[in-house]
Amino acid sequence: MGPAGGSAEGIALVTGKLATTLVSTARPRGTGITSVNPPLVRASTFVFDTLAEFERAAKTPFDVPFYGRVGTPTTFAFEEAMAEIEGGHRAIATSSGVSAISATLLAFLRQGDHLLVVDTVYEPVRRFCNRALTRMGVETSFYDPALGAGLADLIRPNTRLIYLESPGSGTFDVQDVPAIVALAQARGIRTAIDNTWATPLFFRPLEHGVDVSIHAATKYIVGHSDAMLGVVTANADSYDDIRRATQDLGACAGIEECNLGLRGLRTLGVRLKRHEETGLTLARWLAGRPEVARVLHPALPSCPGHEYWARDFDGAAGLFSVELASRDPEAKRRFIDALQHFRIGFSWGGYESLVLPMHPESRSLPRWQALGPVVRLQIGLEDADDLQADLEQALGRI
Ligand SMILES: *Cc1c(COP(=O)(O)O)cnc(C)c1O
Repeated sequence: MGPAGGSAEGIALVTGKLATTLVSTARPRGTGITSVNPPLVRASTFVFDTLAEFERAAKTPFDVPFYGRVGTPTTFAFEEAMAEIEGGHRAIATSSGVSAISATLLAFLRQGDHLLVVDTVYEPVRRFCNRALTRMGVETSFYDPALGAGLADLIRPNTRLIYLESPGSGTFDVQDVPAIVALAQARGIRTAIDNTWATPLFFRPLEHGVDVSIHAATKYIVGHSDAMLGVVTANADSYDDIRRATQDLGACAGIEECNLGLRGLRTLGVRLKRHEETGLTLARWLAGRPEVARVLHPALPSCPGHEYWARDFDGAAGLFSVELASRDPEAKRRFIDALQHFRIGFSWGGYESLVLPMHPESRSLPRWQALGPVVRLQIGLEDADDLQADLEQALGRI
């Protein structure tokens, strides 16, 4: 058995437009299985008739169903699909976005190493660096997201890895990925990026020379706010170390979750298009409102690093922030509490709109120059006019 529950020859190798690939990748073909989707295989244990078969399987445990923690055909189907759409060597599904990130950092860092992490990084990653990695004797320097080639000044002889997140998920600073990759490659330093915002549809880091692309599949890929899932896509040079780290941590993805990830991929193209359109409509409308000081949306020139988004990305997701013009601390509360379609909650990437207060003051590099309170909006799949009317009445309550 190969990935997707079929023989290795039975899996169609699909290239071409990503919209087509999302539909056709990791589907059963010529296996005698007639369902549209690969079967969902829940298992801790796979059994073998002869010791010889068992021993053969043990040699390639990530290609054949061997033991549940290593993966079942459902895991392999999701991993195969992700590797294909990201253009990587292979992908590894993990229990959450955070476990995908911590496994990647642990895969490459050892005592005495130095790590560079973008200062706009997802907050739990900052905590992992400051707590777990510090304990291990790994030193982290946080760097300004505006640094491209200038990052060279922060590199030390023991710098092992540069970690990017572009755009950041709070103030949406877009990084100059090609410039950072160029200086890393020239010095034999590995690069890893959190690509959750763009999804592989709008940015494919491995095509830009990044070694490892990480997703909180919990967000757009699953797309329905009902599962925790992470995935790492690696180039051939980085794959083995990350696979070993995820196995050492026991950070395997659940089977239902992998199935939900694969299901989410089938509709990712249409969902993202809608998130993008409604998000842009509302971001531009908000930018013209007197209650709004600035809109932080990578596709708008007011966003730091907009020029890199315009150069490198194929589209914009539906998550962005606004800075309100009023410095009255109660203004933010009145605005958020008045919203009806936007419920208050962590996370994003689901079908539903969400709102969240952000605190970029905690950022150190460069110190955040606040125009007003920052509020993040996740634009869902509701009607754009309904969302605009909701935002309008809430702005009126400020
Ligand atoms: C949510 C998120 C993560 C972590 O993913 P979990 O699945 O919640 O662990 C990582 N990076 C970004 C940008 C996120 O938004």
